Amino acid sequence: MSNQSNHTEILLDIKNIKKYYPIQAGLFRRTIGHVKAVDDVSLYVKRGETLGLVGESGCGKTTLGKCIVRLHRPTEGELRYRFDEDGEYKDLLSLDKKESFNARKKIQMVFQDPYSSLNPIKNILTAFDEPLRIHGWTNANERKERVAELLESVNLHADYMYRYPNEFSGGQRQRICIARAMCVNPDLIVCDEPVSALDVSIQAQVLNLMKDLQKEHGLTYVFIAHDLSVVEYMSDRIAVMYLGKVVELASAKKLYYHFEHPYTEALLSAIPIPKIGEKRQRIILEGDVPSPANPPAGCRFHTRCHKVMDICRVKSPELRPMKNDPDHLVACHLADTVEDIAEIPADAV
Ligand code: SF4
Repeated sequence: MSNQSNHTEILLDIKNIKKYYPIQAGLFRRTIGHVKAVDDVSLYVKRGETLGLVGESGCGKTTLGKCIVRLHRPTEGELRYRFDEDGEYKDLLSLDKKESFNARKKIQMVFQDPYSSLNPIKNILTAFDEPLRIHGWTNANERKERVAELLESVNLHADYMYRYPNEFSGGQRQRICIARAMCVNPDLIVCDEPVSALDVSIQAQVLNLMKDLQKEHGLTYVFIAHDLSVVEYMSDRIAVMYLGKVVELASAKKLYYHFEHPYTEALLSAIPIPKIGEKRQRIILEGDVPSPANPPAGCRFHTRCHKVMDICRVKSPELRPMKNDPDHLVACHLADTVEDIAEIPADAV
């Protein structure tokens, strides 16, 4: 189990996942370095919950999502998955052919762009037909009934199965993509920025629909987004990522109102508080996110942190539980985490 919990209902236990992409150069394409897109991330996802992953572009959240659905193979680490509630955990990265096929059914993904996610030359029935056939729906009539049922579950008319993607609006297309992800009754859906390409007026409809489907079908979501207010609305717990690492992890409420990490503070400072007379001080993050091929020494956030101390430039803070709340994890020398404060030299600040 990861260090955060030994909860019995953990569906996916992400252990020390790294995803490094080689940088090649020269005539012989020698590897001269690596882009460390995800660098030693450990998290767990409980059955039936929504775990939010948030951070700026390039923080590694989408790469981590693609590792979970095995679109990308991690460089190192384990993805321990529990297929049945009373079954054993199995590493998704070392399954045999049959188990791997089963895992594809259990773990699905919804992508950011509903326009490129659907093949423009296939009508909806054809687009849904293939995954259903592959996963054992041999009867054509039953497949058609299933497609009708799926479309109705996302509040679309069953007759829309004969239409082509260009006949739908962005919101309708994303609802179709969600229905397609649910075709084969998955347990876990990784949602990669599922509403960021949609108009604000449509976003709430899609988010509410996702919540309803979760309740109805007991789905588990990993919800990836850069917008903290959207993630807060959807998630039970949120992991904040910066430059390939998790820097803070807490329940959505805790993170929103009692954040500890200066990066979380900066992200939240951009969101208005929905209470008259209350506002947060806006913290502008200076400069760009450093290159994941050459991350800064010490704390990776130190080049942009408004609370930086000398120790931050040389010592990397570990993600550790807060003394007053073991479910709230923070990677910052300033946070009052277990076994941490004592290690900071008195003259460092
Ligand atoms: Fe800022 Fe230092 Fe904390 Fe990093 S460890 S977030 S640089 S205060």
